[in-house]
Amino acid sequence: MCSVGDSFGVELSSGTDMHEYECNACGKKFKGIGTNVRCPKCHSKDVKCLDE
Ligand SMILES: [Zn+2]
Repeated sequence: MCSVGDSFGVELSSGTDMHEYECNACGKKFKGIGTNVRCPKCHSKDVKCLDE
């Protein structure tokens, strides 16, 4: 479905759903868009969505 490619962390874009995520690697909580987000702190893709 939606892909954010190599981008990570918060990308401001109107009309896009933002969700809160938590990094499984470092525990960082952050806002992200889509399902393929990366942790802004350690860049891990091992994150979980807290909104679902
Ligand atoms: Zn992390």
